[in-house]
Amino acid sequence: GQKITKSKSVPSIDFTKIRIDKLPTVVLVGRPNVGKSALFNRLIRRREALVYNTPNDHVTRDVREGVAKLGDLRFRVLDSAGLEAEASSGSVLSRTAGMTKKVLEQSRVAVFLIDARDGLQPMDQDVGRWLRKHASGIKTVVVLNKAESLYFTGTLPVAVREAYTLGFGEPIALSAETGLGMTELYDALRPLLEDFVLQYANDDIDEDTTPSDTEESKVPLQLAIVGRPNVGKSTLLNAILQEDRVLVGPEAGLTRDSIRVEFEYEGRTIYLVDTAGWLDRTKKERGPATLSIVQSRKHLMRAHVVALVLDAEEIAKARRTMKHAEVVIARRAIEEGRGLVVIVNKIDLLRGNENSKIYQNVLKAVPEEIQTVIPQVTGIPVVFVSALEGKGRIAVMRQIVETYEKWCMRLPTARLNRWLRKVMSRHSWKDQAAQPKIKYFTQVKARPPTFVAFLSGKNQLSETDIRFLTRSLKEDFDIGGIPIRITQRSVL
Ligand code: GDP
Ligand code: GDP
Repeated sequence: GQKITKSKSVPSIDFTKIRIDKLPTVVLVGRPNVGKSALFNRLIRRREALVYNTPNDHVTRDVREGVAKLGDLRFRVLDSAGLEAEASSGSVLSRTAGMTKKVLEQSRVAVFLIDARDGLQPMDQDVGRWLRKHASGIKTVVVLNKAESLYFTGTLPVAVREAYTLGFGEPIALSAETGLGMTELYDALRPLLEDFVLQYANDDIDEDTTPSDTEESKVPLQLAIVGRPNVGKSTLLNAILQEDRVLVGPEAGLTRDSIRVEFEYEGRTIYLVDTAGWLDRTKKERGPATLSIVQSRKHLMRAHVVALVLDAEEIAKARRTMKHAEVVIARRAIEEGRGLVVIVNKIDLLRGNENSKIYQNVLKAVPEEIQTVIPQVTGIPVVFVSALEGKGRIAVMRQIVETYEKWCMRLPTARLNRWLRKVMSRHSWKDQAAQPKIKYFTQVKARPPTFVAFLSGKNQLSETDIRFLTRSLKEDFDIGGIPIRITQRSVL
């Protein structure tokens, strides 16, 4: 099939400009083999790690140190090998305890890794007890690593509940190897390292970073194809999969609900969610339209991008472009912060009518109605296809991937603040006296992009101000068509 390849250069930050001793320290701890090194490597990416030997009580232990980059966070990360030696020897206060304690003393946060697939082991309990004893002054974040397969087998909640019993608060599931869940780690670390970000916000050292975090957008895209019965969802899926390697099949021990479909598109793994409904083609009897809403609602939560399929012929015939059920799905997708791509299928049935009013109406009516029912997001992509003829497959996939990339986008704080200064001078304030003072503006989260305006003084941003900021962000950074959130917070 036709492959679209975009080559993007990823300029790197000049980390020599950041003094490592200025950075807050995060230490990775856990028993052997939980993936500390894997997480360490992901956090420092391709950058150099310093390895130094720390002699302690005649034992030499390696501690790796590096500068971690996670969204707009920069911190010093230590991969502590000392603690695991103690835990594996079974004696908590072994010869290396002194050394590890020193590492903990320098740290602000301990990231405590456990293996999500193994579940909580006695050795993890040992590490937990050790941390409680020696790291009571620092914040511990529990990470369930190797969680990539658990996302899809539905066993993640069990593992999370178990890890919760360690008593360090809400655990984070991620996969150091694939990058899945790194956003959640960011969300957990950011409040703990925030003061540094604030200081960093005024530095211009990330001058030449690309706006999108390209690695983050490489994690498997979870796609839901939704729509009322008979609009052509299955046909469309087959058209998409035709030329790709497909993995279909119930995995041992899983219910039909967990059937997993994944495929590769331009080197990117795509997981399909909401598979139960349409995969079973023998089940010909179909429920009423309401059934598909209920199903979709459940699955929307797991999807990154929702592809809503409409039927062009129905639109041509009907007075209303979208049925109630379709409006509900579209709105809910956006409210849940998902990316949305609208697909108008069966366009072949209008063939021969290209110049007719009906045809022109269909082309115009759908984008217009989408805009009407979801006024908060402009530019939601609409693609016209004929799944039966296999036409539009590339356009559909391109829109889905593009929407996903925007949804994953991260804008560096320094860049946002330069942008803010410019944009605020464009904004016409109603009342100069009531003009809010934005001290700085930062993206706290991706998937979907979420921003916080930190305000000094009493004046708050009005809804009009927020709409203005949202619109400007979308235009200036080309992130239209996806939900974007902006909130405000006061700082002293
Ligand atoms: P450490 O001893 O805690 O530093 O663990 P390593 O980083 O050396 O990882 C131990 C093993 O787990 C290696 O074989 C890694 O490839 C594997 N591993 C690490 N992270 C992941 C992950 O997210 N998923 C999976 N499936 N394996 C992982
Ligand atoms: P689903 O219930 O949404 O999965 O819909 P199906 O994929 O089963 O399609 C329902 C009917 O519409 C089938 O008879 C398909 O052959 C037909 N269909 C699907 N896509 C197209 C299309 O692009 N053009 C035409 N003319 N028919 C289509």
